[in-house]
Amino acid sequence: MKNPFIYSNDNKRYHTWNYYLKQKYHSKVFKVPLNANFSCPNRDGTCGVGGCTFCTSLGSGDQVQEMFEPLDIQYDANLKVMKNKWPQGKGFAYFQAYTNTYCSLETLKETIEPFFYKEDVLGLCIATRADCLEDEKIEYLNKLAQEKEIWIELGLQSIYDETAARINRGHTYATFVDCVERLKNTDLKICVHLMNSLPNETKDMMITSAKTIGQLPIHAVKIHMLYLMENTVLAKEYLEHPFPLLSKEDYIDVVVRQLEYLPKEIIIQRLTGDGVKEQQIESFWMLNKTVVLNDIDKEMVKRNTYQGRMLEK
Ligand code: SF4
Repeated sequence: MKNPFIYSNDNKRYHTWNYYLKQKYHSKVFKVPLNANFSCPNRDGTCGVGGCTFCTSLGSGDQVQEMFEPLDIQYDANLKVMKNKWPQGKGFAYFQAYTNTYCSLETLKETIEPFFYKEDVLGLCIATRADCLEDEKIEYLNKLAQEKEIWIELGLQSIYDETAARINRGHTYATFVDCVERLKNTDLKICVHLMNSLPNETKDMMITSAKTIGQLPIHAVKIHMLYLMENTVLAKEYLEHPFPLLSKEDYIDVVVRQLEYLPKEIIIQRLTGDGVKEQQIESFWMLNKTVVLNDIDKEMVKRNTYQGRMLEK
């Protein structure tokens, strides 16, 4: 069957990150993950303690190599891993762990500029929260973005405030929308993270989250399944009072339907995540990323659907 999706040069029926990067940089592009050892306002008591209940003590940066070493050592170690896979590839420096703008403007500058100005770095990806991007930081980052691409990765997970409260997110959907509004007239690129299978969420709620953020002026989305990692608050809650988790088939069904409501221009940076096998306590099917991604492709072909189909007149 011919692929009806226009932003694709392979069998994918959604706008892949690889497709975007190939068009722009004509090369394989990877992210070099870093842990700058910041904290989060919902960890240190500013708006909560303990962090999001699914988050590990490493602030969702568990894949960073040499994560307790200085940033330049981390960068070299992680770049080496990437270069072993893709010797000709080029990289973005990815400030992944914790909330990377939860600091003073001066600290932010000191942290990111050594990497931003590296000759071999194409740009930056900065993971942060909607309540930690003050106007002065946006203005500063936007100035840098005139020179190289800068992606702001905003964790949201769900548009529902009751879910945010349930997972101790520490901010509301309105705070997220306010942040997107303040970013929208800049050259900063916005990538939003969504998580499927959070407690008390139905499939319809997950689909509505995707549909709703798809109407905002954002550039990319990352979707993944809830990771239940050992020693997290949510894993402990689950072990005491198990709540339903999506099966692989249900996850694929939700993702395909979420994609149908996301405009074609929105880049899909990921549709499944990288758990840490040794720490995961459930949903082991997600460890085989290739199978999950292939099954999403097959399901889209079977339904003869593609990203944005439900938005067509
Ligand atoms: S905001 Fe991010 S790093 Fe902070 S607790 Fe939540 S998931 Fe973890």
